[in-house]
Amino acid sequence: MKVLVLNCGSSSLKYQLIDMDDESVIAKGLCERIGIEGSVLTHKPTGKDKFVQEEAMPSHKEAIQMVMAALTDAEHGVIKDTSEITAVGHRVVHGGMKITKSTLVNEEVKQMIRDCFDLGPLHNPANLMGIEACEAAMPGTPNVVVLDTSFGMDMPEKAYMYAIPHEYYEKYSIRRYGFHGTSHMFVSGEVIRFAGLDPEKARVIVCHLGNGASISASIGGKCVDSSMGLTPLEGLIMGTRSGDLDPAVVQFLCNKENMDVNECLNVLNKKSGVLGLSGGISSDFRDLEAARDEGNELAKTALDAYVYRVIKYIGAYTAAMNGVDAIAFTAGVGENDMGTRKQICEGLTYLGVKLDEEANNVRGESRIISAPDSKVKVVLYPTNEELAIARETVALVQ
Ligand code: ADP
Repeated sequence: MKVLVLNCGSSSLKYQLIDMDDESVIAKGLCERIGIEGSVLTHKPTGKDKFVQEEAMPSHKEAIQMVMAALTDAEHGVIKDTSEITAVGHRVVHGGMKITKSTLVNEEVKQMIRDCFDLGPLHNPANLMGIEACEAAMPGTPNVVVLDTSFGMDMPEKAYMYAIPHEYYEKYSIRRYGFHGTSHMFVSGEVIRFAGLDPEKARVIVCHLGNGASISASIGGKCVDSSMGLTPLEGLIMGTRSGDLDPAVVQFLCNKENMDVNECLNVLNKKSGVLGLSGGISSDFRDLEAARDEGNELAKTALDAYVYRVIKYIGAYTAAMNGVDAIAFTAGVGENDMGTRKQICEGLTYLGVKLDEEANNVRGESRIISAPDSKVKVVLYPTNEELAIARETVALVQ
């Protein structure tokens, strides 16, 4: 069975065609600058040369049509006809309290995605455009939505409620949702299997450290807490997002800098995090580490603050679960940055965490990086959100 996985942003569309018989990627690619001048499709069929096409894509509809043409092309295509695609799995960012788990798309589900536009204003409209474009291009092919928020829907009330007047929860569904849910679900499940832990009782902390960063605690693969909130701004320090912050900072900044709340939130989302802390050096850890190693103090502070916040959250989540059996690292920084993993583990010796430095000296492969006598297993596990979406899609269409 072949499943197409789509991740639509406001001006981009990422896709993967996966053969679910052996979970191999048949082709993947990216449409960029949708709706903007200079649209381009980059198509990478496995085992064949990359194909790049610069052609106007006024909307996601044209982008999908170009993807379909690339997938079925005589030269760089990988299938004869789009009827070979059994189903399409779509990443949808915010399901609010309306869509709590992966589901087949129908008119009601599309309306629920629309109802969540104000919760996910940057992503949900694009996600819906992707769904509608697929419905037009492949009538009759089932579409499935997989939500970034569904893993967090298992959190208990005490973890997801904000301590603000209850009427706001009732009126507007303001609560903590926890994003990167597909990644946390995938990695926590895989780590239980990979490290041979108890599938029902294993207490796992997943550190998804990418440009966006979040951390989750789960027992037997069920989320107990997750660091992102109503939006992805809460929690860890990220590439450009502040993470946790006294909300009074917003009022103070607005008054002092003559900004409105939207401008201030833009600063907290796009100009903060390690980028902001380092005085604007970079949001990329490679640049920051190079600057720190050349003696730049702000780069050092940014990296130290980042690691400190992760260590604090691991302590909090260990307390939330009354212990921890495994800590996993994933995403860009988590998978590639052995120095950051080492620094984090150095702050966890009180838990009996013992890193195997030689095992840690690797990038992007699944392996146990703790010493055999470590009380907690530390696991490096590359995330694969596309595969997770494809698996959910298969489960719903079979
Ligand atoms: P996202 O999906 O949130 O955009 P990724 O998970 O792809 O982000 O992570 C991207 C980040 O990973 C980069 O900004 C960079 O900080 C970090 N990264 C990637 N490769 C390395 C590396 N070799 N060493 C350190 N950090 C890295």
